[in-house]
Amino acid sequence: MEVRRTVPVKLDVDSDDAALLRETVDEFLWAANYVVDHAWQGNYKTTSKAQLQEETYDEVRDQTRLHANLVQNARNKAADAVQGVVARWKQGEYAGEPHFSTPTVVYDKRCAAFHDESVSLATVDGRIEAQYVLPDGDRDTPHSRYLDNDDYEVTSAELHNKDGEWFLHLRTKAEMESDTSEQATTGHSTVLGVDLGVNQLAVASTGTFWSGHEFDHWRREYENRRADLQQCGSRHAHENIQAVGRKETGRFKMMLHRIANGIIEEATENGCTVIAFEELTGIRDRLSGASWGHKWAFERLYEYVEYKAELHGINVEQVDPENTSRRCSTCGFTHPDNRESESFECLKCGYENHADYNAAKNIGLRYLRRNQTGDGGGAPVGVRLNRGTLNANGEYEPPAGESGQSGSPRESPITRTEGSG
Ligand SMILES: [Zn+2]
Repeated sequence: MEVRRTVPVKLDVDSDDAALLRETVDEFLWAANYVVDHAWQGNYKTTSKAQLQEETYDEVRDQTRLHANLVQNARNKAADAVQGVVARWKQGEYAGEPHFSTPTVVYDKRCAAFHDESVSLATVDGRIEAQYVLPDGDRDTPHSRYLDNDDYEVTSAELHNKDGEWFLHLRTKAEMESDTSEQATTGHSTVLGVDLGVNQLAVASTGTFWSGHEFDHWRREYENRRADLQQCGSRHAHENIQAVGRKETGRFKMMLHRIANGIIEEATENGCTVIAFEELTGIRDRLSGASWGHKWAFERLYEYVEYKAELHGINVEQVDPENTSRRCSTCGFTHPDNRESESFECLKCGYENHADYNAAKNIGLRYLRRNQTGDGGGAPVGVRLNRGTLNANGEYEPPAGESGQSGSPRESPITRTEGSG
């Protein structure tokens, strides 16, 4: 299955190139209208692209300076419009002859080259190069989601002119894995709970940990570099501090992308259709030792997971974080003394495990309860543990093909440490 997104980008075009683009637009629209007029002749409207190509191509090439592929794209635009009118007639609706006047040109890879930060476009007189005017890369925008994302590929684009400014509407596509379709049709969903923290940046209910060690190491490292530069105090030092900041942001983003990919992998390997996080609002106040840097990192991580998950047909949700670290995921007993720093030991039933792992399971369970008591339609939901699944009644199911005792999951967490680099 494919996911398609259109991303508009503004182009940086000088006046000479703008003049060429205007002429290209004029000739492209002329060509498309010429083909429509031709298709419209006679009682039967011609809708076949091959036939229209044969009957109009030479004349359009003679009358315009358009690149051969732009002639074909104009013909396709015309044929699509005529087909649309014929389809409406078949529905008994009224539709007149199409006419194109909006300034647009359709580009594909044969008459344009789409680079990361610029594009090369065929015009009536050779090609022009135009830089994209991109927003700040730190913000979450369609550009950072789809253009800076290797999973998405630019397949074609439409050039637009609006109030004298040039824009390219880039069409991107990505392949989406369809191995979740079976669960989607049976209505069964499995949730991966994810706990966020300082010592462990993320812990999944499957027992996989992503350590915060590398994050802390580099934060200290960059802080020291900034402090050293601050002592110099010169303008040059100030510029260097900004450079350190950019480098820091870039390194952290790469790290967060790796963790996000790891979480997605964890979810797909375990057949999860939902990834549940705790609510991010107020997270800095809830976690002791969390800085603004952590808050920033959790927000980025959530965004990365959210858009990467979309490609796999996985939903990402946030649940109420109250007591997820104090509640026993086995018996439900909630008490602040159940937890002491990284260890969780239930005062009631004696369940012992890593505190963040216990919290990750609670996050998954909270999603599951919310969706079974609410308007979720009563579809079965399970929380994926490191071995097997836990359902809303607290019943444990071992993984398929293995024998396991109900109610006694073997679940000491496996630690997976993120490689540095
Ligand atoms: Zn307990």
